[in-house]
Amino acid sequence: QENIVKVSILGSESIILGYHLLPYLASDLVQNVKASTYVIITDRNIAALHLNPLLDAFQDAQRKFGQSVRVLFKVIPPGELSKSRETKCAIEDWLLEEVCTRDTCLIALGGGVIGDLVGFVAATFMRGIPFVQVPSTLLAMVDSSIGGKTAIDTPHGKNLIGAFWQPKRIYMNLSFLSTLPKREFINGMAEVIKTACIWNEQDFEKLEQGVEKIQDAVLNGVKDDFTGTTMETRTEGQCLLLDVILASARVKAHVVTVDERETGLRGLLNYGHSIGHAIEAILAPQVLHGECVAIGMIQEAELSHYLGYMDRASIDRIANCLSSYGLPISLDDERLLCRSGGTPCPVDTIMSNMRIDKKNAGSVKKIVLLSQIGDTVEKKASAVGDQEIETILHE
Ligand code: NAD
Ligand code: ZN
Repeated sequence: QENIVKVSILGSESIILGYHLLPYLASDLVQNVKASTYVIITDRNIAALHLNPLLDAFQDAQRKFGQSVRVLFKVIPPGELSKSRETKCAIEDWLLEEVCTRDTCLIALGGGVIGDLVGFVAATFMRGIPFVQVPSTLLAMVDSSIGGKTAIDTPHGKNLIGAFWQPKRIYMNLSFLSTLPKREFINGMAEVIKTACIWNEQDFEKLEQGVEKIQDAVLNGVKDDFTGTTMETRTEGQCLLLDVILASARVKAHVVTVDERETGLRGLLNYGHSIGHAIEAILAPQVLHGECVAIGMIQEAELSHYLGYMDRASIDRIANCLSSYGLPISLDDERLLCRSGGTPCPVDTIMSNMRIDKKNAGSVKKIVLLSQIGDTVEKKASAVGDQEIETILHE
């Protein structure tokens, strides 16, 4: 098929990007990821916008290839609360009632919540069945759908129960982004900027220079059209958006391929997250993950500078880039204060939240330090003393 791009991960070209990807997706699944039943699981917001076009695509594909398969769907409430044991059980019981067996393929249509949850259901149902990711948020495209980490939350914390379980395919249909709320798009941009910061200065420059075109491509994106007659013509902005998502997805796919179980290199993707997560623990759910990570990126860049690894001009560039996409760069940010209702983030609380970071080696904190934009001090997170971290947080 014309106009699609593939990215290789763990030795197979299973990441597929494009606009208007649904016909390809359905044909590829029906022909190449054979199953007696395909089960689409999505949330209410996404179902209202994108479920019917996906069901139609399956109908067309079945007609085209003269095959008949069963296609089921289940719609769950949106939001992080659905990433729970209760929802997992409910999906499993429903699959059993529908007599789904091992030759079932689950389709996670949604953001990171759906992807993590459905992936974990797939990992344990009948000791593991195939699943595919159909990410519908920017964050899910560049981050959560790639890498095979699946999980649910418990009252003790997020992502505490889960498994590594790789999807058979990851279909990034960029047309979905045109319905994404602006704040969710900005949230995903934090991860895109993060990846450029640790990996590639040219990618970072593209982001610095492309703000308007990229935003324009999302806000005025074309919707999926099943008349089958419209030729795909991409605007300059849409090409740039594809380019930027592709670059980010490639880095994540590469890092996961080299270090699937996160023993070193994959840890670089946690740039901004050591401090970011500690802030998120205080301000969620009013403040989003990417918003906290943006602040964490600046603080961790400050730390890199303080320790003598990176110049101040680079911090300024990162800060300007983040804010040009609408992300906060400090805890004093006005929109952030408005969203959090002015909830204070004392240094002590941030420090104690950082103690439970999975990356720490015992009591020694591990933080990704930058040497310049596009490169890191080590090819993994570095050990940093509490004293230095506290100094930066107090500034
Ligand atoms: P999300 O799944 O909650 O989606 C955000 C919101 O956007 C939801 O309300 C959803 O209904 C709505 N939405 C999704 N797609 C839409 C579309 N195309 N149009 C309109 N509305 C749409 O949030 P998220 O940011 O995608 O994912 C966050 C989750 O991802 C967290 O649970 C986090 O732990 C997880 N995560 C996992 C990994 C991983 O490696 N597995 C990595 C990062 C984050
Ligand atoms: Zn993140």
